[in-house]
Amino acid sequence: MELIEETPYRFRIDRHGQMRVPGVVYASRALLPDPAADRSLDQVVQVATLPGIVGASYAMPDMHWGYGFPIGGVAATDVRDGGVVSPGGVGFDISCGVRLLAADLDRREFGPVRERLMDALGRDIPRGAGRGAVWTLAGQPEMARVLREGSRYAVRRRGGGDRDLYRCEDGGAVDDADPEQVSARAIDRGLGQVGSLGSGNHFLEVQAVEEVYDERVAEAFGLRRDQVCVMIHCGSRGLGHQICTDHVRAMEKAMPRYGIQVPDRQLACAPVESPEARAYLGAMAAAANYARANRQVLGDAADRVFRAVTGRTLELVYDVSHNLAKIETHEVDGERRELCVHRKGATRALPPHHPDLPPDLREVGQPVLIPGSMGTASYVLTGVPGGGAFFSTCHGAGRLRSRHQAAKSVRAKDLRRDLERRGIAVRGASARGLAEEAPAAYKDVTEVVAAAEGAGLARAVARLCPLGVVKG
Ligand code: 5GP
Ligand code: MN
Ligand code: MN
Repeated sequence: MELIEETPYRFRIDRHGQMRVPGVVYASRALLPDPAADRSLDQVVQVATLPGIVGASYAMPDMHWGYGFPIGGVAATDVRDGGVVSPGGVGFDISCGVRLLAADLDRREFGPVRERLMDALGRDIPRGAGRGAVWTLAGQPEMARVLREGSRYAVRRRGGGDRDLYRCEDGGAVDDADPEQVSARAIDRGLGQVGSLGSGNHFLEVQAVEEVYDERVAEAFGLRRDQVCVMIHCGSRGLGHQICTDHVRAMEKAMPRYGIQVPDRQLACAPVESPEARAYLGAMAAAANYARANRQVLGDAADRVFRAVTGRTLELVYDVSHNLAKIETHEVDGERRELCVHRKGATRALPPHHPDLPPDLREVGQPVLIPGSMGTASYVLTGVPGGGAFFSTCHGAGRLRSRHQAAKSVRAKDLRRDLERRGIAVRGASARGLAEEAPAAYKDVTEVVAAAEGAGLARAVARLCPLGVVKG
């Protein structure tokens, strides 16, 4: 496959075979995946064959292999022109995302409370694969409210304020959730998991603002140099996973009926206006609301810990998903068109003056939250005018080594000691989990962010460094 270098940060794969649009990979040459180790460039090509896809099949600089679609993939389809929705373009952890809170606390005030704070977070933030959550829902009726009202219901029932809603994507909930499309099994899995991190790469991290690149934007976001922050990364737990499983199966069955053939069955899809797609989108929106409620409740739990230990509070900077499909209007070839935009391991990045921004972010754009790894920096970016890939950018550093490879090459004990020596407190990670998530398992987040900036997808606002991590 030929990659044509259009700019140092943009590569094109021309249409060939069944591709309906070209592939566009935003990356530096150094960040491009090694085809011998990672098949994600082939996945970009396969996604380009989907019915109704417009523009290009896009990949972000943190791209790597995923189920059907690459992680770091963006694909938009035309709703009115036979465009499809594919659960693989959202992923199993529906609405996995990042929430950043800023503490009314300075980095130099953190030292003396570090151990107490980290112990309390380690105790009060539920994590791991099993059950155990801040909020156990009282059966199906309460679940239906979480699925319909997301963070709005969580704020009302569990605490929080206005800022928790207007600083959350979609004001804390999407309107088109359809709990009827969520199976009993998915609901059952979700009842006891609202307010829990889950396992693997999900985390709650205490960080400090190490560098501010744009004072005006940082101030509008609610960030200043040396400020202590809390970053939370998690999604819709077993509920979202079950929804993806259920609807992939339904779409696999429906595809022949719509005459759709895909080069990989993991790309199972259905026309956006079909009953199968409507059912999936309704269930997916319900999972998106669940994920926001989950992060809201975890943020609130962290706020309580901060109040108890330091007497200071946490304020929401922003909450944004990086695994979601959304119906959005974009200009394509000079025409306004209704598109189904799949972002999988990709973050929406709205530019200044976009109508979907809350008033206090109008002048500066949407905060884009980019975790790096437990031992390196994380970044806050903002959207830029004319941003590519339907206003999308990267979502992290992106995996370089598989979990298995990382576990083989990293000794958890050494890693823990190294992190502690560098002043990064670790709570809750199993030895295996720690090794799988070692910084060496990920690409260099600074390079990824530089590529996103170079490609004109987003702009850096601040760099954060880790002080302590609670690992899922
Ligand atoms: P994903 O959503 O693909 O599972 O992960 C998003 C990103 O989170 C990864 O690409 C990686 O850069 C980042 N990440 C994984 N573990 C950690 C961690 O413990 N701390 C921070 N700050 N980032 C992490
Ligand atoms: Mn996730
Ligand atoms: Mn994620």
